[in-house]
Amino acid sequence: MIGAVDIGGTKIAVGLIDDAGRVMCRVEAATEAERGYTVGLQKISEMLRSVLGKTGATIRGIGIGMTGMLDPIRGELLDADFLPGWEGSRPLEDLSREFGVSAAMENDGDAGALAEAYWGAGKGKGRLVYVTVGTGIGGGIVLDGKLYRGAAGSHPEIGHHVMEASGPDCTCGLRGCWEALAAGCSMEKWYAENCPAAERNSGPASARKICELARKGSEFAKRSVDREATYLGLGLANLIGMFVPDVIVLGGGMMQSADLYLGKIREVIRSGCRFVPAEKTEIALASLGDDTNLIGAAMTWRHRYENLSAAAS
Ligand SMILES: [Zn+2]
Repeated sequence: MIGAVDIGGTKIAVGLIDDAGRVMCRVEAATEAERGYTVGLQKISEMLRSVLGKTGATIRGIGIGMTGMLDPIRGELLDADFLPGWEGSRPLEDLSREFGVSAAMENDGDAGALAEAYWGAGKGKGRLVYVTVGTGIGGGIVLDGKLYRGAAGSHPEIGHHVMEASGPDCTCGLRGCWEALAAGCSMEKWYAENCPAAERNSGPASARKICELARKGSEFAKRSVDREATYLGLGLANLIGMFVPDVIVLGGGMMQSADLYLGKIREVIRSGCRFVPAEKTEIALASLGDDTNLIGAAMTWRHRYENLSAAAS
């Protein structure tokens, strides 16, 4: 059993994951980042003790998936945009010492990519790009079972390739990034700004609501969905052009409405990508559900400490 810790900006999930990637026990709590890292660490330790107490299990390691820019080797959070005040925290070292086992840590997009590569929709595929579309767009790249790392162990941000140079401002400093055009909140913002009064409902519409309206036949909601799918398709076409992976695995909250997007996404990809064998890239939906990041946290430990490369080939 591996202890898994998924630290997000709003919630922390802790669980025990077996060698088949199954969640044996899990608990969840609000992150309350503003109370500081020491309180957060104490909370994580208590949660881990509680799942161990409930099951009587022992763990051979702890895997941590965490939001934000981090040094995965030192296990240190570098940038605390989503976890204010946690900059410089070292959960890897702290949890390892407290529980007397080794620990590994990755950005949560990378953790999700590893989970899908070994236990999910990317199993058996050599070259995988994992894309998660939710309030933002993130993901990770796994090549022959190994996580792709940038310079100094850094995590590449696939959501921040520029698609429209004069597009909406992005949090990364550029404009018109894929995330700024196609993330859930970008869809919601565009809908709110452009929806004609006659079709406007009371209050701001969530991406889920827009999809619901599109299914009911609302013309403007259908246009929003079409725009969303077009931008998703363009971003995926870019990834195919750059990597020609065996599979792109799509996850995240927005993909709960994947049936509305996939036709257009495939059409956009088919309309371009002429200089690569784009038809060789399978577009698959993530298969591990809401616990992808938690399962991925466990996989970060196995990826670091066990020889698994054969499992993904
Ligand atoms: Zn950006």
